Amino acid sequence: MLSLDVARIRRDFPILNERVNGMPLVFLDSAASSQKPIQVLDAMERVYRTTYANVHRGVYWNSEQSTELYDEARRKIARFIGAPSPENVVFVRNATEALNLVAYSYGRHFLKAGDEVLLTEFEHHANFVPWQVLAREVGVKLKFIPMTLEGTLDLSKLDELLTPKVKLVTFAHVSNVLGTITDPRPIIERAHAIGAKVIVDGCQAAPHMPVDVKALDCDFYALSGHKMLGPTGIGILYGKSELLEAMPPFMTGGDMISSVTFEDVTWADVPVKFEAGTPAFVESIGLGAAVDYLQAIGMEAVRAHEKEIVAYAIDRMSEVPGATIIGPTNPEIRGGALTFTIKDIHPHDLGTLLDREGVAIRAGHHCAQPLHIRLGLKATARASFYIYTEQREVDALIEAVYKAKHTLKK
Ligand code: PMP
Repeated sequence: MLSLDVARIRRDFPILNERVNGMPLVFLDSAASSQKPIQVLDAMERVYRTTYANVHRGVYWNSEQSTELYDEARRKIARFIGAPSPENVVFVRNATEALNLVAYSYGRHFLKAGDEVLLTEFEHHANFVPWQVLAREVGVKLKFIPMTLEGTLDLSKLDELLTPKVKLVTFAHVSNVLGTITDPRPIIERAHAIGAKVIVDGCQAAPHMPVDVKALDCDFYALSGHKMLGPTGIGILYGKSELLEAMPPFMTGGDMISSVTFEDVTWADVPVKFEAGTPAFVESIGLGAAVDYLQAIGMEAVRAHEKEIVAYAIDRMSEVPGATIIGPTNPEIRGGALTFTIKDIHPHDLGTLLDREGVAIRAGHHCAQPLHIRLGLKATARASFYIYTEQREVDALIEAVYKAKHTLKK
């Protein structure tokens, strides 16, 4: 028995009724970006059709209405991630911008040559390249928490790695390639014990499981709205108040100032200090509607459903001759993504053949080239699941894989 009423949920996602190459769409790429329910589409369209005006600027009704809806979205998102206050929630474009904001604003202001940043070998480029650039420009040193053969973090050497030089620790809550779910708490506790700050990249976690940033006690938490039923162009950086207050702005211009004279400028309060220019407020409102949708289902139920789907997918894929599953095969520590290779078939060819069957998966390095180097693989295939994924879609994936194997044998 699946934990969610998936048939009912699917009715909210019009795109799932579309056909691709003459076949019903089997959408298995939600880890890259999820589909959107009508509730999100309607919330945004309603603003454009009925109340639209820029926020924070007008003294007239439409502008006040936009500002109220925008502030309400921030309150909803703060509640969703367990932030102590909406002021801890900075609207950004996506997780990439959230992580760059920390690397530029915190990294360049508070870190110096010789300081160390501890990350993992399975980071997405978004949580890798900003630190690599910081290493080049500022002279910080990057160190990596090693992985076990199974693709989990090997924390046995963590205390050795956490020398007094480590000022920042950053890692993915859930790996977008291995699917590994890392419990952030022990790492955060041990990093705090030596005075390091901790960033959690929650891009693949917040859409799929309950997250409580206050309970985690992380210093920063980054996520992208488009992976959690929201629109593109909106993401979140959660930050602890004292850090956000101490950090200089990332970008400057309109909205983020308190006052400007010819000689001087002072900044607006947090979080507006980090939100230069007209914000993506319609997208924020869309993300607020997405959060309402997820909360109505319940994040425990979302996780339970994905655990069942991924367990089923692991079982089915394990039966396929020549298939290798990349990352943990224990569904308890695996998010809703199945990454795999098929012997003698390039993942791109597999992706193309699956597309002919209407099955959409991702193939490539999934923006994690260093991890693929570590795994000794150029590319992998990834099928990823969400609240609208049905067991029969996993069956369609497996059938399509068999068909691709057969086609390429001829
Ligand atoms: N981190 C992880 C773990 C991701 O999976 C992704 C998206 N694939 C990102 C960061 C970057 O997200 P975005 O492209 O939305 O900025």
